[in-house]
Amino acid sequence: MTIGVLALQGSVAEHIKMIKSVNKKIDTVMVRTIDDLAAVDGLIIPGGESTTLRRLIEEFGLFTPIKERIVAGMPVWGTCAGLILLADRIEGESPCLSVLDVDVKRNGYGRHSDSFVGEGDFDGMYVNMVFIRAPHITRVGDNVTVLAECDERPVAVRSGNVLATAFHPEMTRDNRVHKYFCNMVEAKI
Ligand code: GLN
Repeated sequence: MTIGVLALQGSVAEHIKMIKSVNKKIDTVMVRTIDDLAAVDGLIIPGGESTTLRRLIEEFGLFTPIKERIVAGMPVWGTCAGLILLADRIEGESPCLSVLDVDVKRNGYGRHSDSFVGEGDFDGMYVNMVFIRAPHITRVGDNVTVLAECDERPVAVRSGNVLATAFHPEMTRDNRVHKYFCNMVEAKI
């Protein structure tokens, strides 16, 4: 099984380290090209800056290939900026990949200095949640499952092969959300 991390900008190395800590037999790929993408069974779109990421996705010719793989069922997990890129609607901006029926508001939790560690239940596991200039999920579609809430807001959602978290599990020492995603990928191959 091979899991890729979109490696154009953002917290790439942290995700790779976490996936390896789940199971060192899982191959990891830093995805920058169409060929890299073709080699993966699942993709993580990391946190970073969504405006930069979406520009680079276009520049590297990855927009259509990524979208096609997701539509064809490849498991994908977007963290923070990654969630923004997956969402069907972004307040005040046009959507990017538009494969997840949620609305988001960028920087909903405020500025960098408002970053915080929350906590809550993720699919039955109690986890710490690191929020860094995270988006608010302001609407969740009917076919989207809320996997986690923090302060009564949805912060992790899933719709079939698409998983998204407003927070950053790769910034903790707890690899259980990564394990959850690895299980999604394993179930598909
Ligand atoms: N605020 C960033 C954005 O809007 C997301 C921050 C993050 O990914 N940690 O793109």
